Amino acid sequence: VPLSGSADRTSQVPCSVPPIPLFFAHAHIQTFVRSIHVYHMSRSGVRLARSIGARMLNSYIRLAVCHHLMPLSRPTRLRGFMKELEERIVQQGTVKPGNVLKVDAFLNHQCDVELFDHMGAAWAEHFKGKTIDKILTIEASGIGIACVVARHFGNVPVVFAKKAQSINLDGDQYTTTVYSFTKQKEFPVIVSKRYLNEGDHVLLIDDFLANGKALKGLIELCHEAGATVEGIGIAVEKGFQGGGDQLREEGYDVDSLAIVESMDPENGTIEFRS
Ligand code: 5GP
Repeated sequence: VPLSGSADRTSQVPCSVPPIPLFFAHAHIQTFVRSIHVYHMSRSGVRLARSIGARMLNSYIRLAVCHHLMPLSRPTRLRGFMKELEERIVQQGTVKPGNVLKVDAFLNHQCDVELFDHMGAAWAEHFKGKTIDKILTIEASGIGIACVVARHFGNVPVVFAKKAQSINLDGDQYTTTVYSFTKQKEFPVIVSKRYLNEGDHVLLIDDFLANGKALKGLIELCHEAGATVEGIGIAVEKGFQGGGDQLREEGYDVDSLAIVESMDPENGTIEFRS
């Protein structure tokens, strides 16, 4: 799938599927699937068409629908992006004891760059009109997401907070301590003073938001530096742990693309906030 470098609205979502009217996809989904088959048969020959499995077709449908969502209204488009992430969580996520959601297949171990790109498009839409000249995240899982997302914010620099002292960290640093929900212990959060400055307009990005400790650490560093937190983009918020709502009450613009309202480790069910 080619990634478009252009910033125009219809090319933000990578898509090699020829334009097909949205009503066609809605009203005649079977025909729509067949038409993609035909497209492949004609373009790449019978051998390739034979090798396209159900998984590939699914992702083509998703891409085509996302492609057609772009000219739609902002709320409709955002709902489409959020649905995509929710679907992936339901298909590939596992609920672990202790309120941990494991999504290694696309977020925390293997990275689905196309999905990250869609997240970037959604946040670019949500934070449109705000001045954002830096993205701040925390190692490790936030880094990949933030780098792809930066492409949607004019390639602003991405800074990631380190979780351990290292000889590579020279000079003055902003440091705080946060409690890790997944590791159940405290760890330092460190950013060099070179890369976070007074007057920076920062977008915070992270993979998960649970109790909000990691984000509060990043916010503290921004305040120490004299930087402004313009917004917070989160892939998966676990709404039942309260961190997101607390930050919203404090006045932060938190945009979580999927908000898990409840999850059950016994039967694996996951419910989302509507
Ligand atoms: P918080 O500080 O908001 O309690 O937790 C957020 C941090 O903990 C995120 O940076 C993320 O790395 C990790 N985290 C919290 N809950 C989960 C979870 O259910 N699954 C995964 N994979 N990471 C989580």
